[in-house]
Amino acid sequence: MTAAAQGRPKQGTAPSGGSEPHEVGSVGALSIQLGCIADDFTGASDLANNLVRAGMRVVQTIGVPTGPLGADVDAVVVALKSRTVAPAEAVSQSLAALQWLQAQGAKQIYFKYCSTFDSTPQGNIGPVTEALMDALGTDFTIATPAFPDNKRTVFKGYLFAGDVLLSESGMQNHPLTPMTDANLVRVMQAQTRRTVGLIDHNVVARGEAAIRTRMDELRAQGVGVAIVDAVSNDDLLRMGPAFKGMPLVTAGSGVAIGLPANFGLAPSSQAGQLPPAGGWQAVVCGSCSLATLAQVAHFRSTGCPAFGVDPLRLAAGDDVVAEALAWAAPLLPAGPVLVYSSTDSQTIQTVQGQLGVTEAGAMVEHALATIARGLVQRGVRQLVVAGGETSGACVQALGVTQMQIGPQIDPGVPWCHAVSDAAPEGLHLTLKSGNFGTEDFFIKAFTALSAGAPT
Ligand code: ADP
Repeated sequence: MTAAAQGRPKQGTAPSGGSEPHEVGSVGALSIQLGCIADDFTGASDLANNLVRAGMRVVQTIGVPTGPLGADVDAVVVALKSRTVAPAEAVSQSLAALQWLQAQGAKQIYFKYCSTFDSTPQGNIGPVTEALMDALGTDFTIATPAFPDNKRTVFKGYLFAGDVLLSESGMQNHPLTPMTDANLVRVMQAQTRRTVGLIDHNVVARGEAAIRTRMDELRAQGVGVAIVDAVSNDDLLRMGPAFKGMPLVTAGSGVAIGLPANFGLAPSSQAGQLPPAGGWQAVVCGSCSLATLAQVAHFRSTGCPAFGVDPLRLAAGDDVVAEALAWAAPLLPAGPVLVYSSTDSQTIQTVQGQLGVTEAGAMVEHALATIARGLVQRGVRQLVVAGGETSGACVQALGVTQMQIGPQIDPGVPWCHAVSDAAPEGLHLTLKSGNFGTEDFFIKAFTALSAGAPT
């Protein structure tokens, strides 16, 4: 079957554009508006995506850069891996990010954490918030993980995931950050010496002036951190103007939709403008989440070629990486290819039983990352990576240090443009968290890039 007959997206076509793309590498006297610190990697993309949709031009950096940014953007999201490290380490990484963002001229700082407030009683949300407040010399900030688009709402200080309290959502069994209490005032209070208060739904519903008045009251009572209710995007948009000028905002990605307007920015397709796309297309997939398994099945059902990486063959010393690359080379000119290790939970348990959980994960990540690099070396310039850890490994193998954020493909997942030593002129990259995206995500991503996706 031909690519066209299978509905495979065309290769190498440029996205529709408007004005000139924003060059990641362009240099000038540059100063950013909003400086963001994200406690994990795909969460950073999620935040960046919301900022772009609200009109900001955004770059995401992988860790704290060693030099000036050299890009003309409105916001930078520094992606850290600080969610589950020791609190002291999370604080030191976050302060390093703050220092760098301040050096880039950031006028407001946004500390981004998970919409399920993933943390232990020791931290890291509380200690990082406190350290950033100290460093910024501010005695008051807000905290809300609300992200109604993804069914995370906060009411009377209680966090809901979908229709249930956080503590009944499955998050109470999380292996690293079990969330057994949905009351965020209590959760945050356990992590900080500052007094924690609440700005509840009744106040938020009355808008900016009421929110400001309540913040002043709480501050006068000695409250340092206020949890804020939000059950809809309208709530988030109402709180945006009230947070204008606040040195530090701490939140999930939701609050980001209301902040760009404070800097005179409005939603615009220009914000997510990327250079034209070209080159071959590939998907590298290490996520085994249910959403990703459905995406793999969908891609294969369209007749697109797919190569399965078997961890047991990797462990036996077979050169599966070379096999995958040799398999892909003749297929790439015809349309997108998929290399995946994704499999069902029973098979994973068998593999983990034989190789060990960490060992199996690391081995698969390394193999997929080497394949991703090999594919780019062979001319792939549109790369979809599925899986949070897998994304981290691929970005590292590609030597990517910063990404210009482009248009959204699905909620929380934007196309990006990055420079790699394997593609010095740049490549288009999207890093999909395991559970994000519709079933047809892989095909949809390439089609959107060819067509110029809406932001
Ligand atoms: P998600 O975003 O869905 O959590 P990740 O990439 O973060 O995806 O995590 C998936 C983990 O599972 C990675 O460490 C990956 O290497 C590992 N993995 C993928 N496929 C297999 C497999 N077939 N057997 C064992 N582990 C696997």
